Amino acid sequence: MKAFRRYAREERAARLEVVDIPKPKTGEVLLKVSYCGICGSDLHAWLNHKGYESVLPEVTFGHEFSATVVETGSGVSNWKTDDQAVMIALQTHHDENDPYCRMRLPQLSSRRRVQGLHLDGGMAEYVCVEEEFLLPIPQGLDLELAALTEPLSVAEHCIGNRTPIGPDDKVIISGPGIIGLLCAISARSRGAEVIISGTERDEATRLTAARTIGFETLVVGPGHPPLHEQITAYFPDGADALVEASGSAHALADAWQSVHANGTVTAVALYSRTIDFDLTQFLRKQIDLRTSYASSKEDYLRAFKLLQDGAVDASVLTQNYSLADAEQGFIDSENLEATKVLLDCS
Ligand SMILES: [Zn+2]
Repeated sequence: MKAFRRYAREERAARLEVVDIPKPKTGEVLLKVSYCGICGSDLHAWLNHKGYESVLPEVTFGHEFSATVVETGSGVSNWKTDDQAVMIALQTHHDENDPYCRMRLPQLSSRRRVQGLHLDGGMAEYVCVEEEFLLPIPQGLDLELAALTEPLSVAEHCIGNRTPIGPDDKVIISGPGIIGLLCAISARSRGAEVIISGTERDEATRLTAARTIGFETLVVGPGHPPLHEQITAYFPDGADALVEASGSAHALADAWQSVHANGTVTAVALYSRTIDFDLTQFLRKQIDLRTSYASSKEDYLRAFKLLQDGAVDASVLTQNYSLADAEQGFIDSENLEATKVLLDCS
């Protein structure tokens, strides 16, 4: 079978290879992959960025996929041929002795791993997954849209669990990458009024996509007023919440000033450098500074619901490439020429 694999712990060291179709071991399911998304973390791993040292030197990338069961290993009880599934990307084997499992936050356990970075993932024609980490795709949800379940679950965790957002709340999302856009959709589904900000570089593809799906957008950078001034022009009483999804220290340092006293700032991006900020200013406004990391099973289930409700327009947010063109998909993602690349692996 064809698989897009990293072959060395170096920058851009991944290629399409022909490898054996894996055999499902005890408790594992062999799946035929339909669509697999390229995630920001795949890009970081491909570029061999700092913070991604744990990624195997040789591994098939891909943790955001939809697939169909073709074979089950011994001991598998909940899956049969032709069932459709998505994978839980961040995997922690359930253990009631683990406090994070008891809190239903297994993604925070030190035992966690990411399939597609720490073991072979779904940028391939076939993949084996332990049945514990598979979720059935609801009837009627198409496989292309289902491939967005994982990133949407990350947005659902950020908006549904970590950021208090309700009807008519004023929300600013900084960063129009796929997580920012999906956070905006999650917030809108709760009745919030949402603005999305980005840079000039985002204008051609990602901010245009944001406007196409009905959001107001703001551009930050040289020649534009500071972001907090632009936000308060929209929300004169200040924003109830800022969701920082760009990973830019500048965006965070600027945008939080538009949040009113007792509001919330949630960081959902990864930051490549340390951020200096004046905590006293946050304190004097009693701003709740939070972070949101990954997602758990309940967030995937809510993501399914949003996808079924038609909240996500894949024709605007995704760009399809064949598995053979995976490398081009990575390059176009890096250059912000795509919002969300989906590899067609079928
Ligand atoms: Zn992801």
